[in-house]
Amino acid sequence: MKPSRSLLLLLLLLLTLFTSPSLSRPAPPSLLRLPIDRPRSKSGARRDCESWRFTVETNDAGPWKQVPGECEAYVEAYLAGERYAADSRAVAEESLAFAAGESGRAGTVGGSDAWVFDVDETLLSNLPYYAENGYGAEIFNETSFDEWVNVARAPALQSSLWLYQELQNLGITIILLTGRSEFQRNATEQNMLFAGYRLWERLILRQDSDMGKSAVVYKSERRAELVSEGYRILGNSGDQWSDLLGFALAKRSFKLPNPMYYIA
Ligand SMILES: [Mg+2]
Repeated sequence: MKPSRSLLLLLLLLLTLFTSPSLSRPAPPSLLRLPIDRPRSKSGARRDCESWRFTVETNDAGPWKQVPGECEAYVEAYLAGERYAADSRAVAEESLAFAAGESGRAGTVGGSDAWVFDVDETLLSNLPYYAENGYGAEIFNETSFDEWVNVARAPALQSSLWLYQELQNLGITIILLTGRSEFQRNATEQNMLFAGYRLWERLILRQDSDMGKSAVVYKSERRAELVSEGYRILGNSGDQWSDLLGFALAKRSFKLPNPMYYIA
C-alpha cells in the first residue's frame, strides 16, 4: 500500500504545479528598468533632471555652463516650490547639530572659533533676480546682476538666517567670505542688514589682486589668512563646491543646494 500512496501524492503534486495560476499567466515585466526605458523629454533628449541635479549637487557633473533646456521647468519647480526650502533647512539643521556638538565639548567654542559663510545663494537669495532671468537657463549677465546687487534687496535664505543666529548664540564668530568685489561692499552690507543679518565679524570681498583667481584659490587664501590670525574654522557654508574645497578647510563643510549656476 505504501508505494501506491506515495505515487498518488506525487501525481497530485505534479497536477497542482502544472495548473497553478502563477505558471499559466504571462511573466510580469522586468522590475529592472534599463536606461533605454527612460521616457524622452520634449526635446528628445533622454535626461532625467532629478539625476542631473544630483550630479550637480555632488560635483560629479564637474563644471557646467547653464541649466539644460529640458530641465528648465524642473529647476523652476524645485526652486519655486517647497523642495529648495526643505533641502536648505535640512542642511542648516545638520550644520547646527555639528556646531552644537562642538560647543558641547567644554571650553572648545569661543571667539576664535569661526564659521565662514558665503553670501550669494548661501545667506542671501537672488531668486527674485533669477526668476526674471530663466532660473539659470540663460547665460549669466554680469551687468544686470551687478545692477540687482546695487539695489540691495535680496531676501535672506530663511534657514541660513536661522543658522546664523543660532551660531551666534553659541558664541561662534561669523566671517563672510564672498566672491563679490570690494566696490560692492556698501551694497552688500546694506543688503545683509535689510535681510536681517547682524554683527558679523568681517566681510571679505575680492580685491584687485584677487581678480583672475579661481574662487577655490581666492577663498582658500583668505581662509589661510584667518587661520594664521588664530581662528579655528569650525564650519563653512556655501552653495558652490569652490566655497568649500582647496586648503585651510573648515573642520566641517556644508553644501547648500544650487542648481542654477556653477562657479569654478
Ligand atoms: Mg554663493
